[in-house]
Amino acid sequence: MAKNIVVIGAGVAGLTTALLLSKKSTYNIVVAAKHMPGDYDTEYASPWAGANYMPVSISGTDAADWDKNTRGSLEDLARNHPGAGFQSLPKEALGPDIDSATVFTSRGVFDHILDATTSGIHPNSPVDLVVNCTGLMASKLGGVQDTSVVPARGQIDIVRNDAGKMLDMSGTDDGDEEACYVMTRTAGGGTILGGSYQKDNWESQPDPNLAVRIIKRAVKMCPALTNGKGMEHLDIIRHGVGLRPVREGGTRIEKEHIGGVLVVHNYGAGGAGYQSSYGCAQAAVDLIDPAWDVQSKL
Ligand code: FAD
Repeated sequence: MAKNIVVIGAGVAGLTTALLLSKKSTYNIVVAAKHMPGDYDTEYASPWAGANYMPVSISGTDAADWDKNTRGSLEDLARNHPGAGFQSLPKEALGPDIDSATVFTSRGVFDHILDATTSGIHPNSPVDLVVNCTGLMASKLGGVQDTSVVPARGQIDIVRNDAGKMLDMSGTDDGDEEACYVMTRTAGGGTILGGSYQKDNWESQPDPNLAVRIIKRAVKMCPALTNGKGMEHLDIIRHGVGLRPVREGGTRIEKEHIGGVLVVHNYGAGGAGYQSSYGCAQAAVDLIDPAWDVQSKL
């Protein structure tokens, strides 16, 4: 029987989970979120990532498995779909024998997780499952309020200059909370100069002094960025800040019942939301099928 699912969150976790759900079976899926692809906001981590794949998870842990299970899909995207950026579910992503899966996106800001089950969010009722991919804001969402999720503030500069390569320096002379990396994105996404990792810092506005330090370090490490002409020749698109959703104990992939509604969580990936995206989403999807039986006994 068809199931009605609302995925809260349109970051890399929500969209990847919705993508894998859409391949699984005849699910009617709505992705509902405050921020959608194209938006820039500190509460929305996904647009700020350089999105590199450099796993540092400890071998033998779930996190290491999630990274490993993501690699093949990211490699396929990079090799065969280089234009695939931050898009919602393409139709061709559906499996060959699936023609009834439907996916909608919808703006929605929820104070409580059960608001996702109210009328007007999903075209069908009742909602059988809510998937919680709210990232950092899982710390504030009613019914969840997971205070073990905290921000790790990442300030970056996005420039039009092409570095021609990816560079990452371990540590800087400017303290433990600062970093130095240069990542050119595919499909005209600009080059990211980073950065910072400032735990428990919610400041949404870029710090101009930090911006200058980031630029100076990047140009020193990679003079090719401006053909050796110095930092004045950087073509800056924007200075930005994203808050990584860091969760004590790692990403939460679990199911529970909240107010009698089945909820599957996938949030708290910290600085690894892209490199663990498919692995985490698959682990969340794997929790779902057996869970239908549990719900029908409620
Ligand atoms: P988000 O992208 O934050 O999405 C959360 C979604 O939930 C949004 O759509 C939001 O609107 C919605 N939402 C939240 N609360 C509500 C509510 N109450 N009602 C409705 N909607 C709600 N990761 C890597 O793997 N590699 C990297 O190189 C990398 N570099 C990074 C660099 C920087 C500067 C930053 C900031 C992050 C970086 N990351 C990197 C980490 C990665 O960006 C995050 O782990 C990932 O984006 C988290 O995705 P998410 O979908 O969980 O959360």
